[in-house]
Amino acid sequence: MTQTKLVGIFGGTFDPIHLGHLAVARYVLTHCALDSIKLMPCHLPPHRASPGVNSAERARMVELAISAEPKLQLEPLELSLQQPSYTVNSLTLLKQQDPAAHLCFIIGMDSLQYFRSWHQWQQILTLAHLIVLKRPGYSAQDGDAPALLTQYGISLPELSTQPAGGILLLDNPDFPQSATFVREQLAVNPAVQAMLPPAVLSYIQQHGLYGCAVSAAKV
Ligand code: ATP
Repeated sequence: MTQTKLVGIFGGTFDPIHLGHLAVARYVLTHCALDSIKLMPCHLPPHRASPGVNSAERARMVELAISAEPKLQLEPLELSLQQPSYTVNSLTLLKQQDPAAHLCFIIGMDSLQYFRSWHQWQQILTLAHLIVLKRPGYSAQDGDAPALLTQYGISLPELSTQPAGGILLLDNPDFPQSATFVREQLAVNPAVQAMLPPAVLSYIQQHGLYGCAVSAAKV
């Protein structure tokens, strides 16, 4: 009997990718025994992008952060589009590329709390499971989370035995990093540098992103 292929999809703004994102990916990869995880930066319309940080730069930072980890891969699907893509559309394409794989869309508890407002959220659950991580400051008792977990909650083995439609809540350690905090503090608070993978910090400093002064020749 062939083993079910489990593919994680980790969508996000990654503006910038931080150690919390990496910790999430590594934890899910190991704990859920996924075959791989695709990190999928979303396209941002120009008026929403951080000043001076475009989609190509966000993708490059993701590449730098995961370069030593072959099971973590950049998925550039949404970046080549001219407009923001709904998750349901991206998952439809990824499912078409690999119909036998069970897709597992990875989100934090903050995202689960408003998941029922996502475009065609029920359709998303026909294409993929959700793997949800605890996140400091966000309770499983708030927003959409209790109802969704009651209706769709599954256990770890069901990622393999069911093709889609379950929500697995993990009991992960706290990963306190947030991109909003990094963007707000990086230029003024050196302690925030510890929230970033070293190669990402170097890239930010060399390109003068997020209000940091340019520190060396560009790479
Ligand atoms: P921002 O502060 O700009 O909203 P973010 O740090 O939440 O950014 P995103 O790129 O928006 O990062 O996150 C992508 C996904 O990763 C979301 O589902 C989010 O819930 C999850 N996530 C990000 N950081 C963490 C974390 N520290 N712990 C658990 N989940 C996280």
